[in-house]
Amino acid sequence: MNLIRSTVVLAAAVLAAVPAGAQDASAVLQNAQVKAAFQHLDANFDHFVNELVALTEIPAPSFKETARARAMEVKFREAGLKNVHIDAEGNVLGERPGAGPNAGNAPMLALAAHLDTVFPEGTDVHVRKEGTKYSAPGIGDDTHGLASMLGIIRALDAAHVSTRGEILFVADVGEEGLGNSRGIHFLLEKGEYREKIKNFISIDGGDDNSITNGGVASKRYRVTFKGPGGHSYGAFGLVNPAFAMGDAMARFSHSDVPRSPKTTFNVGVVGGGTSVNSIPGSVWMEVDMRSESPEELAKIEKKFLLDIADAVAAENKARSTRNGSITLDAQLVGDRRGGQTAESTALVRAAMEVTRALGGKPELRYSSTDSNVPIGLGIPAITIGAGRAGQRAHSPDEFAVMEKSANVPGQQRALAIVVAAVGIN
Ligand SMILES: [Zn+2]
Repeated sequence: MNLIRSTVVLAAAVLAAVPAGAQDASAVLQNAQVKAAFQHLDANFDHFVNELVALTEIPAPSFKETARARAMEVKFREAGLKNVHIDAEGNVLGERPGAGPNAGNAPMLALAAHLDTVFPEGTDVHVRKEGTKYSAPGIGDDTHGLASMLGIIRALDAAHVSTRGEILFVADVGEEGLGNSRGIHFLLEKGEYREKIKNFISIDGGDDNSITNGGVASKRYRVTFKGPGGHSYGAFGLVNPAFAMGDAMARFSHSDVPRSPKTTFNVGVVGGGTSVNSIPGSVWMEVDMRSESPEELAKIEKKFLLDIADAVAAENKARSTRNGSITLDAQLVGDRRGGQTAESTALVRAAMEVTRALGGKPELRYSSTDSNVPIGLGIPAITIGAGRAGQRAHSPDEFAVMEKSANVPGQQRALAIVVAAVGIN
């Protein structure tokens, strides 16, 4: 009895809390202009493929996105967006104003895809084609998102889709690695639209069913172990920072983490030393820890900091410190907040309804994407795919499948979710 009553009260509270703007999926999908926009995406698939190839071949390592940003700026302008410009952080922005009597009250949606890739300068980004398999580093993550976003802008325009809320299109910098979502941090914390953006969608990875409404929190460290160094033979017996780091890695590798909430740890990059016949003066490693739960993340982080300190103490005991001892410098180089956009929010429900109405099975997920930033700030945010074309992201043999069935339905879904989020006239 009590249970039933509280369920009813809860349902009423959820309904009352729904912000204006989001609309039910069937109204959106039955709209003639939206149908025409779907048709436009289908008819312009070849153009999408050519544009994806051209964008992929403009290198855009994190912190070096300028060339690709300029190309997106030109395309935003050509596609008819208003007030197109590059902000102080390097994000490309363009507005598509809302229309109709409710335009002024409708909340603004930011739709983003990231410019940067994980691949360093000098990586061969030429696209190799074998049938419908197109291979190049970054082609899926997230160049596919950028090209899909352009297709969506043009389809909305060609079909004269009239939305209530304004859509701010964003090609953002610095999502990957040590970029730490700097583009979206700037957009939402310092940029000129920070007060206006009420909903956020990122197009990045995923498939035709996934809706990422949870942000995995992460911490990243660069740890440097330093010692006196010396000749490998002549100075044998002195403390060795490489042994301290190896010991630290071994201790850390045996950490216990829960499967659920999923918690992970990794040593991703190591370096240092002088030569094979020298005791190194310094060595370093880069470490990544993630969790769906902030408490579990705090636990593994604490364990990691103890492990490295214990390993240094052990090395200083195991060998001679007469020329100096091992010291430790642990620098926090990445700190992403996590959290979740509740399933009951209008944005998540709109995405789920659209997915269902198109014959899919919505799957809510946790990941680490640009949506972590708005989620951390309390702005409803999701990350969705625009197809299931991209494979092997972050690896040099990354590829995307250039078949309509792997791309167009996902683009149509993304377009419909965006329209549902801002409301149609
Ligand atoms: Zn990505």
